[in-house]
Amino acid sequence: MSEPTRILLDESRIPRNWYNILPDLPAPPPPPLHPATLEPVAPDDLAALFPMELIAQEMSEDRFVPVPESVLDVYRLWRPTPLIRARRLEKSLGTPARIYYKYEGGSPSGSHKPNTAVPQAYYNAREGVRRLTTETGAGQWGSALAFACAQYGLACEIWMVRASYDQKPYRRSLMKVYGATVHASPSAVTTSGCRILTDDPGCSGSLGIAISEAVEAAGAADDTRYALGSVLNHVLLHQTVIGEEALEQLALLGETPDVVVGCTGGGSNFAGLAFPFLRERLAGRMDPVLRAVEPAACPSFTRGTYAYDFGDTAGFTPLMKMHTLGHRFVPDPIHAGGLRYHGMSPLLSHIHELGMIEAEAVSQSACFEAGVRFARTEGILPAPEPSHALAVTIAEAQRCAESGEEKVIVTALCGHGHFDLPAYERHLAGRLEDFALPQERIDSALADLPGV
Ligand SMILES: *Cc1c(COP(=O)(O)O)cnc(C)c1O
Repeated sequence: MSEPTRILLDESRIPRNWYNILPDLPAPPPPPLHPATLEPVAPDDLAALFPMELIAQEMSEDRFVPVPESVLDVYRLWRPTPLIRARRLEKSLGTPARIYYKYEGGSPSGSHKPNTAVPQAYYNAREGVRRLTTETGAGQWGSALAFACAQYGLACEIWMVRASYDQKPYRRSLMKVYGATVHASPSAVTTSGCRILTDDPGCSGSLGIAISEAVEAAGAADDTRYALGSVLNHVLLHQTVIGEEALEQLALLGETPDVVVGCTGGGSNFAGLAFPFLRERLAGRMDPVLRAVEPAACPSFTRGTYAYDFGDTAGFTPLMKMHTLGHRFVPDPIHAGGLRYHGMSPLLSHIHELGMIEAEAVSQSACFEAGVRFARTEGILPAPEPSHALAVTIAEAQRCAESGEEKVIVTALCGHGHFDLPAYERHLAGRLEDFALPQERIDSALADLPGV
C-alpha cells in the first residue's frame, strides 16, 4: 500500500481555539512602551488604533482563545489546508529525508494572511468600526484584508509600498476588485508621506513608511481603525491554526518533525506553524529544531540588534523590544516584498533571545532557484517569501542525502507566486540581482534607534 501524499482533514477539524504561547514561556517578553512616557502601554493607549477585543488578545494570558463561530464560518472557505508530502522534490534531491509542506496558498487571496485578516475585520465590525486602514508590501496582506473587509461590509484603504505597487500591478487590481482603495507609499495624501517625498521624490518605500501613513490616517478619523498583518501578538495568535492543523495531520501519519522551517518578515507564518510545535517541545513530547529564514537584504534576526524601536518610520507606534535594523532602514527592493520589514515580531524576538528558535539568512537568487526547483517537481509555484524557507529545506534535505539521516522536515508554504511571475521571468533570464548589504548601512540606520 502506498502512503498518502496529501494529508487532508475534515472540515469539522478546523481548530476551535487559537494557541497563545505567552503563558508557556519561561519569562514574559518585555512590554511595549508608550513613546512619550516610556511607561508600558495601557489598553486605552491603543484604543484609537485597534478594537478592544484585539487589544485584549494582544495582552492575553489565556493559553487558548476561542475562534468565533462567524470566523470559523469564513475559514471553512479554505480550511483545513492540506499538508503535502513533497515526494517528487525528495526524489529529485535523492534524499532519505521526508519533507512535508503546509500549503496556505489555497486561501482566497493566496496566502496565510486571511487567517488573521478575517478575525481582525470581524472584531472591528462587531465594535462598530466602519473603515480599516493598512499598509502592504507585496500586496498579500492588502488583498487578504480587502477580502476580509468585503466579508464584513467594511471600507478598506491601503498604502502599498511603491516598489511593489510598480512591480505587482495585479495585486493592486485584486485589492480593488475586493473593493479597497490603494495608494502607492510614500503618498501625497498623508503628512508623513509628503515629508518623505519632499526629501526623496523617487523613494521606493518601505513597510515602515507605509505603516506610518496608515496609522496616521486611522488616527485622523473616529470610525476608522488600523490593521496590521504581522508582528503583533494577536496576529501570531490567529496564525496558530496553521500549526494546530499540521500537528494533527502529522499525528495521523505517526510522524514527528525533526526540523520546522518558515520564512520571517514580521514572523507571523513562521510563528503560526512553529508555536504549537514549540508547545509540544516544551511539554517534552517532541524535539524539533525551529528555524526562521530571512532575506540577506533585510536580516533583522541575523544582523539586527535586539532593542526598543519604533514599528514604523515616522515614530508613531509604541516602542517595541525586537530584533531591528532601525526604523529608518529602507531595504533594497528584493522581490520578496513581504519580507522587507526593518523589525521582527517582539514575541518571536524574545523567543529567539531565549534560544528557543534558530535563524538564518539567504540570498535572493538562492531562493528563486529553490522556487523553480519546487515548481518543476511539486508543481506549485511558491511566492518569493516561502521560497526562502524552501531554500533552507532543500539544503537540509541535501545534508541528509550526504549523511543518510532520515529527518522529517516540515516547511511553511505560506503563499503561491502567481502574481510574482515577472520576478521569476527575471530570474530565468539571469537578470535577478543579489544585493550586498554593507555593514555601514545597518550601522547608520541603527544610529537612529530611540535609545531606551
Ligand atoms: C506577508 C507574507 C510573509 C511575511 O510575513 P510573516 O508575518 O513573516 O509571515 C511571508 N509570506 C507570504 C506569502 C506573505 O504574504
